[in-house]
Amino acid sequence: MSRPRFRRILLKLSGEALMGSNPFGIDPAAVARVAGEVAAAKAAGHELCLVVGAGNIFRGLAAAGQGFDRTSADYMGMLATVMNALAVQNALEQIGVDTRVQSAIPMSTVCEPFIRRRAERHLQKGRIVIFAAGTGNPYFTTDSAAALRAAEMGCDALFKGTSVDGVYNADPKKDPTATRYETVTFNRVLADDLKVMDASAVALCRDNDIPIVVFNIREQGNLAQVLGGSGTATIVQN
Ligand code: UDP
Repeated sequence: MSRPRFRRILLKLSGEALMGSNPFGIDPAAVARVAGEVAAAKAAGHELCLVVGAGNIFRGLAAAGQGFDRTSADYMGMLATVMNALAVQNALEQIGVDTRVQSAIPMSTVCEPFIRRRAERHLQKGRIVIFAAGTGNPYFTTDSAAALRAAEMGCDALFKGTSVDGVYNADPKKDPTATRYETVTFNRVLADDLKVMDASAVALCRDNDIPIVVFNIREQGNLAQVLGGSGTATIVQN
């Protein structure tokens, strides 16, 4: 199936994409591979914004389940995304791709604060902007941050890299009869509680008419292929 070509995209990288085959943490080889995918997408002429998660380091909700104060735990999760953002920045710059990290929680000795107009200027200059610290607010996820930044930066689509090749009508890891959608509506995703992104992120994309492209980030060369209109993926749209 051929897909529309999107010029400016926001790529959401979950923390898990950075841990490789390790149970947690940052695997430099996995980060380098992801950076290579991003660099190829940039070389193909796309403008890229990245939002990185932190599930490989710290998840606020899981820590709250173990007795942590939820708000503090969420701040820890947001700080962990900054570590991941710096790891991705480092890997991209090692292969000659110019980047800036902007954090929703100001941290001026480490990176820039989030300033939309400045981020826009970076994109115009051909840099990749990596948005860290989620939305800057507890009780949110980096999926919601990705939807928010995609809307703010006028992205044509939100690319969600996962470990499956799209959206299925059931969990393909548990149900062998599960089938993959080529396209599916936002409302179907919300009504059937399909596991794409959390509901607030899906609703924000729906209300701002930003398609979500779900694809497998673990497959070598897949991002460039999906961006080029081939490859396997599901588009969530209105
Ligand atoms: N987080 C938050 N507000 C945000 C984004 C993230 O509080 O706007 C915290 C939250 O605790 C979350 C953690 O940061 O569990 C890591 O983000 P996420 O779970 O979205 O990472 P991913 O699953 O994408 O790796």
